[in-house]
Amino acid sequence: MKIIMLGAPGAGKGTQAKMIAEKYGIPHISTGDIFRANIKEGTPLGKEAKGYMDKGQLVPDELTVKILLDRVAKDDCKNGYVLDGFPRTIPQAEVLDKALTELNDKVDFAIDVDVPDENIVKRMGGRRACVTCGATYHIEHVPPKKEGICDKCGSELILRDDDKPETVQKRLSVYHEQTQPLIEYYTKKNILKTVDGTVDMMDVFKAITDILG
Ligand code: ADP
Ligand code: ADP
Ligand code: ZN
Repeated sequence: MKIIMLGAPGAGKGTQAKMIAEKYGIPHISTGDIFRANIKEGTPLGKEAKGYMDKGQLVPDELTVKILLDRVAKDDCKNGYVLDGFPRTIPQAEVLDKALTELNDKVDFAIDVDVPDENIVKRMGGRRACVTCGATYHIEHVPPKKEGICDKCGSELILRDDDKPETVQKRLSVYHEQTQPLIEYYTKKNILKTVDGTVDMMDVFKAITDILG
């Protein structure tokens, strides 16, 4: 099963994608996580991506598409995957479709986690991310057992630089301009499913598993 998660920054794509990956036994692939891992390791890709990410802009399609295609070609993707944060532009979606068509394959579902902008701004200020394993928390909705410490690996939790309010506003406008057109793109392909992302995360997950079966 090949699944795409759509939605604004902070809509809960990552939270849901992790649960989907676990339930269906497929890898969770987040381009944002891949970029952050490269930044941490100081690779050339990380250095280039950081400049865009810090400004709340998208990393150019050329770079992003290459890392995604390399990732989905790996062995563990044979039975499918859940993509979180890719595609984010129409050209990215077209490249993915072309690559899959060449393999006689296709995306099965594009799930739009729908959350209005007002809720997003509130939510992002409370997001905390683990510097080591990438686990995500929320100071009110998903607090770690011990404040500031990752439950899974014991590392420090931080507020991502790009989750500060000025950058969140910029990312939201980039989302509306460049990513939202994908909703129409996948509607036309008859694979778009919308879920209400404002409810409790387990209720969002229930709505998603009802769709996926
Ligand atoms: P969020 O989950 O909050 O939406 P991500 O971790 O998915 O954030 O992405 C963080 C940043 O990484 C984006 O703001 C963008 O700069 C970059 N990025 C991630 N995925 C893509 C992509 N598919 N195309 C371009 N840039 C991307
Ligand atoms: P995205 O990957 O779309 O950027 P995340 O999954 O990282 O979004 O979620 C953004 C923040 O909101 C995180 O702090 C997360 O713990 C929290 N969150 C996720 N889903 C919900 C929900 N249904 N209700 C409240 N908070 C949520
Ligand atoms: Zn951790």
